[in-house]
Amino acid sequence: MARLYDSRKRILVTGGAGFLGSHLIDRLLAQGHEVICADNLFTGTKRNIEHLHGHPRFEFMRHDVTFPLYIEVDEIYNLACPASPIHYQHDPVQTTKTSVHGAINMLGLAKRVGCKIFQASTSEVYGDPSVHPQPEEYWGNVNPIGPRSCYDEGKRCAETLFFDYHRQHDLDIKVARIFNTYGPRMHHADGRVVSNFIVQALRGEPITIYGDGQQTRSFCYVDDLIEGFLRLMDTDKSMTGPINIGNPGEFTIRELAEKTIALTASTSELIEMPLPADDPKQRQPDISKARELLNWKPKVELEEGLERTIKYFRTRLPELLEA
Ligand code: NAD
Ligand code: UDP
Ligand code: UDP
Repeated sequence: MARLYDSRKRILVTGGAGFLGSHLIDRLLAQGHEVICADNLFTGTKRNIEHLHGHPRFEFMRHDVTFPLYIEVDEIYNLACPASPIHYQHDPVQTTKTSVHGAINMLGLAKRVGCKIFQASTSEVYGDPSVHPQPEEYWGNVNPIGPRSCYDEGKRCAETLFFDYHRQHDLDIKVARIFNTYGPRMHHADGRVVSNFIVQALRGEPITIYGDGQQTRSFCYVDDLIEGFLRLMDTDKSMTGPINIGNPGEFTIRELAEKTIALTASTSELIEMPLPADDPKQRQPDISKARELLNWKPKVELEEGLERTIKYFRTRLPELLEA
């Protein structure tokens, strides 16, 4: 549905009140587009988008993507889904429904209006990987019946649906596999490692390392990730993905804890806690495709990104100390 008088697009962002969605919306508004944010506020919060209150090109809709949505849009970014293990395991059936029914509804909408649709997939489709680093061709090592399966298999099924709508209905799809991302507006209590460690360090509480802390992750700063989303969306129809978007800089969880303590000048001690079931031992994206096809690579180093994130959590500290 091209607009008559200008190149401004009307863009739907599902999950737009969440961590990543709210940053994406900021960028899309800055580019001059109209944005409709559809979110049921399960893990997202109005605080993430309160600065947009009254913005003439922004509209918030409280909506659950497991139900159909009939609106007119030019592009869809489908981000709606709880992302942290604590959140997605809270109601695992709803998590799978959100990924699967949510994908069907958003794909149905994209098919009806004939627009591009972006899917926020995840490195979790690789499960506990036996290939390292993970290229897009790797099919993964996922437990179909474990506590993480509602998320992993839900996201895998969503990818299947995206590629079947592409093949069967010629839909223009863009599937990004997102690796661990951090930054301002992460939920302070969703149990993800970066927010946990920063909040613990600022409160002077023990830093909880699960297992021996030798498992690795590769952390991408949110602004870099969003740049990757926009570049992927800007490609022509032949570019479907899936494409890894993440920062290949790989760190052990213990290293992350030590960096966080140093950057916050915290007196917190490190303690070891049991490792959760099915916790992947290592994770690092192979981003050769994103480099080559999107001319994209992350720019923000872990220390700089941590500093920016720590600054955000410091502003929220009075409220977090009461929580
Ligand atoms: P988040 O929890 O902050 O945001 C998810 C948003 O989706 C929230 O605002 C939530 O209220 C909304 N939501 C959940 N279920 C919904 C439903 N049924 N209907 C409508 N809205 C619903 O998480 P995030 O980190 O911003 O993640 C955004 C997307 O990116 C998710 O799809 C997630 O799986 C994916 N992802 C994130 C990461 C990461 O490191 N942050 C990594 C891989 C993939
Ligand atoms: N749908 C939606 N908005 C639309 C069009 C479709 O939410 O604008 C939903 C609707 O619930 C439908 C689903 O998307 O069941 C899949 O649509 P599709 O056209 O692929 O299949 P069908 O309508 O035949 O089930
Ligand atoms: N982790 C940890 N302490 C915490 C939270 C997480 O040691 O307080 C570990 C967790 O076991 C995992 C890694 O940090 O090995 C990343 O966890 P997160 O939940 O952030 O992401 P995911 O496991 O989904 O990659």
